[in-house]
Amino acid sequence: MLPKEMEQELIEVVGKDRFTSSKEQCYVYSYDATPGFQAEPDGVIRPTSTTEVQEIVRICSKYHVPIVPRGSGTNLCAGTTPTSGGIVLLFTHMNSILEIDEENLTMTVQPGVLTLDVVKRAEGADLFYPPDPSSMKISTIGGNINENSGGLRGLKYGVTKDYVMGLEVVLANGEVIRTGGKLAKDVAGYDMTKLLVGSEGTLGIITEATLKLVPRPEDKKTMLALFSDLETAAKTVSEIIANKVIPATLEFIDQPTLEAVESFAKIGLPTKAKAVLLIEQDGDEAVVAKDIYTMKRLCEEKGAISVTLAKSEEEAFALTEARRSALTALARRRPTTILEDATVPRSKLAELVSFINDTSKRYNVEICTFGHAGDGNLHPTCMTDERDLEEMERVEKAFADIFAKAVELGGTITGEHGVGEMKAPYLAWKLGDAGVEAMRAIKKALDPQDLLNPGKVFAKESKKRIVLAREGAK
Ligand SMILES: Cc1cc2nc3c(=O)[nH]c(=O)nc-3n(C[C@H](O)[C@H](O)[C@H](O)COP(=O)(O)OP(=O)(O)OC[C@H]3O[C@@H](n4cnc5c(N)ncnc54)[C@H](O)[C@@H]3O)c2cc1C
Repeated sequence: MLPKEMEQELIEVVGKDRFTSSKEQCYVYSYDATPGFQAEPDGVIRPTSTTEVQEIVRICSKYHVPIVPRGSGTNLCAGTTPTSGGIVLLFTHMNSILEIDEENLTMTVQPGVLTLDVVKRAEGADLFYPPDPSSMKISTIGGNINENSGGLRGLKYGVTKDYVMGLEVVLANGEVIRTGGKLAKDVAGYDMTKLLVGSEGTLGIITEATLKLVPRPEDKKTMLALFSDLETAAKTVSEIIANKVIPATLEFIDQPTLEAVESFAKIGLPTKAKAVLLIEQDGDEAVVAKDIYTMKRLCEEKGAISVTLAKSEEEAFALTEARRSALTALARRRPTTILEDATVPRSKLAELVSFINDTSKRYNVEICTFGHAGDGNLHPTCMTDERDLEEMERVEKAFADIFAKAVELGGTITGEHGVGEMKAPYLAWKLGDAGVEAMRAIKKALDPQDLLNPGKVFAKESKKRIVLAREGAK
């Protein structure tokens, strides 16, 4: 519970309508898209300006009350569960596109803007904002920046960090700083923009962002390649890149995911194939035609059962939308869906795919796999029921094995979803103890009171999932 005087001070900043400590409202913000994690905040507040955010931070600092910044709560790493209580800071009233600068090719936005609105506004100016997380219809730019989100176009265009040029940030002491800006070249001091991107709300509160835009590609073609086994599909991915073609999209879907997606989207997907690659290329018409021809040939040479080009823009759109709906489609099958994002170098993709399949059998749990094959970023997704503790234990152990294998293959525990509270126990597997300590030192320097999103990135020993993961590890 918040001290009464503190509640009064917060209300003086934002008014009665934009602050609440009601039980019902606090319950609404006690969880995010991550199954198995829940903790209630003590209050929820909606600022409208950077100045209000500064004042809120100063009040929280005075009373030592944690702040959990929250966009749409779609993160999959328990990044917005208020583990230590405190107030949830919502950006629903800071959701404006402030400027589109066609000379410098930038867009400046407030953190609560939806990703899709950024993409659409760029398209309206015949420009392109490439980062496209599958959640883009509902996720916010503030969330994307703090998770450094990726998407289907990551292979060719990179991820959110490649499009953040400057930030306005409220620090834990209430000071405002600006990092970067519209300059293509700027080496004045440390690159604080890159440090803050992916910092999961633990180092500062982002109140404005300047994003990079690029010219809109002239042409785009989409095709589907079907395979009779997972390994051949995975090897074809490496073959395409080894032939120096970088497609805009190179997505992998296994058969169970395909069946779930088809029963959800009903667009006539080939559910008999054991694996499918969704391939897209964009750019100048001649380059697109040449690359699509090369990739079709490589798929056929590697043993694809069939390779089909989308006949129209509508058909291409339906295919990519179907892929984007994979999680939603799988989530209908059982009460709990756990989507992970182990990532390996592309050349190790086939090995990870077969390890995931063996692991699923070994622990007798249902794991489907899809993901950004071109980035080596797979989404092994487990359909389970969190009320069945015995099954959950097997699920935890299976995922712990998969993360350990990814790291052993030169990969990482998360390619795009972030660490949050969920993956915190595994962080040292990737970074080593010294690596984790270096990050702790940065956190301590910028937030000595541990005010900003505490309990995220760095592990707390008490969590059930964490304990299970540790027991099952390696
Ligand atoms: C169906 C589905 C599909 C998904 N697909 C993808 C995908 O393809 N690629 C991908 O990378 N992710 C994906 N995700 C995960 C998720 O959508 C992304 O992590 C997204 O960026 C989160 O945005 P959000 O607005 O929901 O942020 P939230 O979940 O609310 O917050 C995410 C993090 O950002 C922090 N934060 C938010 N706003 C601010 C701010 N202004 N200042 C400081 N910290 C802040 C929060 O504290 C938290 O740590 C998917 C999730 C779902 C449910």
